[in-house]
Amino acid sequence: MKANSPIVKHLVLIGGGHSHLAVLKHLGMNPVPGLAITLISRDINTPYSGSLPGYITGVYEYDDIHIDLRPLAQFAGARIIQEEVHSINLDKKEIILRERPAISFDLLSLNIGSKPDAIKISGATDHALGVKPIDQFLIQWEEILNLAVHSIEQDKAFSIAIVGGGPASVELAFASQFRIHKELKLKVTDESLLNIKIISADQDLLSFHNSKVRNFTKTELEKRGVQLILDTVVSAFKKNQIVCENGSTYEADRIVYATGASIPSWPGECGLALSADGFIEVNSSLQSTSHEFVFAAGDAATIKGEPRPKSGVYAVRQGPPLAKNLVRFASGKPLTRYKPQQHALALMSMGSKTAIASRNNFFFQGRSIWSIKHNIDTNFIRKYSELPEMNTELQVAEGLADKATEQELRAHAMRCAGCGAKVASDVLHEVLQQLPANNHADILTANTTVEDASMIRLDDGRILAQSIDQLRAFVNDPWLFGRIATNHCLSDIYAMGCDPHSALAVVGLPFATKDYGRAQLKELMLSCSATLAEHDCALIGGHSAEAEELHLGLCVNGFIDEEKLLTKDGMQEGDILILSKPLGTGTLLAADMRYKASHHWMQNAFEHMLQSNKAASHCFIANGATACTDITGFGLAGHLMEMLSAKNIEIELSLSDIPALDGALQCLDNNILSSLHKDNKLVAADIFNHEAFANDPLLELLFDPQTAGGLVASVPEAKAETCISQLREAGFSVAKAIGRVSKLGADLPSIILK
Ligand SMILES: Cc1cc2nc3c(=O)[nH]c(=O)nc-3n(C[C@H](O)[C@H](O)[C@H](O)COP(=O)(O)OP(=O)(O)OC[C@H]3O[C@@H](n4cnc5c(N)ncnc54)[C@H](O)[C@@H]3O)c2cc1C
Repeated sequence: MKANSPIVKHLVLIGGGHSHLAVLKHLGMNPVPGLAITLISRDINTPYSGSLPGYITGVYEYDDIHIDLRPLAQFAGARIIQEEVHSINLDKKEIILRERPAISFDLLSLNIGSKPDAIKISGATDHALGVKPIDQFLIQWEEILNLAVHSIEQDKAFSIAIVGGGPASVELAFASQFRIHKELKLKVTDESLLNIKIISADQDLLSFHNSKVRNFTKTELEKRGVQLILDTVVSAFKKNQIVCENGSTYEADRIVYATGASIPSWPGECGLALSADGFIEVNSSLQSTSHEFVFAAGDAATIKGEPRPKSGVYAVRQGPPLAKNLVRFASGKPLTRYKPQQHALALMSMGSKTAIASRNNFFFQGRSIWSIKHNIDTNFIRKYSELPEMNTELQVAEGLADKATEQELRAHAMRCAGCGAKVASDVLHEVLQQLPANNHADILTANTTVEDASMIRLDDGRILAQSIDQLRAFVNDPWLFGRIATNHCLSDIYAMGCDPHSALAVVGLPFATKDYGRAQLKELMLSCSATLAEHDCALIGGHSAEAEELHLGLCVNGFIDEEKLLTKDGMQEGDILILSKPLGTGTLLAADMRYKASHHWMQNAFEHMLQSNKAASHCFIANGATACTDITGFGLAGHLMEMLSAKNIEIELSLSDIPALDGALQCLDNNILSSLHKDNKLVAADIFNHEAFANDPLLELLFDPQTAGGLVASVPEAKAETCISQLREAGFSVAKAIGRVSKLGADLPSIILK
């Protein structure tokens, strides 16, 4: 957010349901300057239920039925938090979260879906499986499938009981019977040891649908051997048993329920008005009838006077009016009204590539209906997965820059934050060389390399190691950024073999209202101080100022005996080079900024960035490391060259052993490079045989700038194996030997790729 666009209001979206997909896309296409957006959702890879039967039958893969909310949220400029909300303080306008400080908001929108109401029946949690949340169902489904196929192959019967008589139960029965038979190489109508039964309290299946749909479905299910037990109310679930109100019991190897919808109790407990059917009550503007600053849509909401079946079609349709009204409410404009359609077209899959169409009195079935459903469903997923390219408008007056300069600046306009925003190594060294040398006797400048921290000899003989670093926010989340940036700033001290003692902070806060600025500063500093406390490092001072973008820097102090210092220039011939963490944060952050990184990639990358180098430093020291540095802005190759320069060291690097973060090689292969990558690549001139590896994305990984990267150290060969296994035990799961020191005192410092 630029300084001339201060944040004035904060919209929080809870739940990544079908309606919020449209809200995020709308806000991405029509940004509202001054409106900060946060999405809090239990699932970030959100499943599209319409395609669930297709996944069960095996027509679709996991990715085909999920929408990754991360790129969409990035597109909307929204902060994304993966957490399940259980409480809101409506008086204070705060969302209470488990693992971080409360989030304050000005307006709120809830699109949290529903769960089958059978969850309230005794024994449901322990002995039965709800079809929602869908992702939890999917994990169990794989197990059900394997068990069923395995049992039947061993000539043992397998039974599945599905409780509920609506479209979800019917689709589930068709799809699971089709898939299990397919795995057993049977036709759907073949007899088998598989027994599927549907148990419903209603007198008929699909009670909201016309008689032609009901009759056809019933006949078709029975033709496929599915047993229908109707007019039967389930009163309890026990281990492999369903107990009914009429006294009957049914045994089953697995019990699934897909009954009518319900929402958890917390929205009501927080004080939101509920409708007679137990959902969040909203008016025709999708605004809570009790709190005007709260909106709700989808299954979780019921429009007063206009109740409709809980179906994805209605949640989808509510998206655009919800988006419009959220923006209108934020900007003080009158809200628009929305009237849901009376009847919606339902397309129900029948397992194989056939489906039933039902609307009011209309009925049709066959392969053509499945094709229509397939097109609707895949187009929906594509609509929210394929996003417009990032806008890289360049604000330079016409004619000021020639074509080449303009092109270069345009490429650079997509500037990376984090370590991708550092000054290029050649520029830095050139300028630093022009500065006067210091002449204090207590400052250690014994070697020619630039160390990770300055070293001042104290009167008692100890060394004060001092480092300073700062990062521009690379995620739209002060809490996450604060933890990673702090971790990053501590790394220089750990690379010197030292433990941090105390730190001073420099904070830059973007222009915002006083309340929003306070909330940002609180999140940033709470996460920073909590991380420092984990390292027994005291925060002893700092400075703050307004800045164009959020940033955090730390000056870190540590005390160490001189002989224990771990510097960059001590490599010995035959030493093994060990890298503690995988590489690739630069390209991944660049992809994330362009809405091209998946939630999985970024979650994995953040976990590595959050991992402290403390244990790695201790492990290297314990195994006699001769030199060490942390991998940050100049990439592995750049930092290695710093280590080789003083003594003209030659190393062999095994490219195939360099560990990469998930997705990093794909991003590099797609030419998604961090802003600093090109400058970092100048060091390729010192890589003896780099041309032979020109088409290998692993070569590019060497130049990728790292944010909160790992340590690289040279360790005597005899200790290398122990060191790697200790690193792995300490949680550095991909710590690896990546090369060896082949020669000291060569003509030039150089890297030879193997
Ligand atoms: C097997 C099956 C098949 C179906 N087929 C169809 C169909 O073909 N057509 C159709 O129209 N409908 C279908 N439905 C119904 C459809 O699933 C729902 O009506 C629809 O998903 C509701 O959408 P929603 O936007 O309200 O919420 P959802 O799509 O359920 O999304 C809710 C979101 O909120 C998040 N969330 C939930 N609680 C919290 C919390 N406390 N904090 C933070 N985040 C939270 C979840 O992670 C999720 O991202 C089917 C349902 C099932 C079970």
